[in-house]
Amino acid sequence: MMQSATRFANPAADAKAVLARHWNGRIPVDVESIARQLGADVQYGDLAGVSGEVALQDRVPVIKVNSNDSLTRQRFTIAHELGHLMLGHLADGKKFRDPSKNYTLGSYDPRERDANYFAAALLMPDDAVRAYAAGMENPTATTLANAFGVSKAAMGIKLKMLGIIPQWATI
Ligand SMILES: [Zn+2]
Repeated sequence: MMQSATRFANPAADAKAVLARHWNGRIPVDVESIARQLGADVQYGDLAGVSGEVALQDRVPVIKVNSNDSLTRQRFTIAHELGHLMLGHLADGKKFRDPSKNYTLGSYDPRERDANYFAAALLMPDDAVRAYAAGMENPTATTLANAFGVSKAAMGIKLKMLGIIPQWATI
């Protein structure tokens, strides 16, 4: 077993592989269905201060989602926790509890950053975003964020990355 695997993690490629196998091609991406197809149990409840958690319970991955959060945030939580699972972060009985500050790209913990990249790639598949934007006369982060069920900030980053809106644009 290579111990250095996480150093070479490619969260976007892993998310793309998951989409290829488990996504029905519709937007917004049904992230809960994908999580269940991957064998995870998704539970909702009051998580007192954190947005999400993921851990193995009797070898079953259990994703807990704070049901007090907005639906957009809940979708991101499932995708982020699924990232921890699919990127191998749960080895050795590790458990993740994620306050919302873990969802910023500036998070110092590389596992949190990788889980965020995975989540962004899962919820906003590049080709689907490009195709959707191509059908719009004036694609905006707001319209696309609503269509994909993500935050305006997350979609803004994606649209700049894909060159659909300029880097200098205000989101
Ligand atoms: Zn996390």
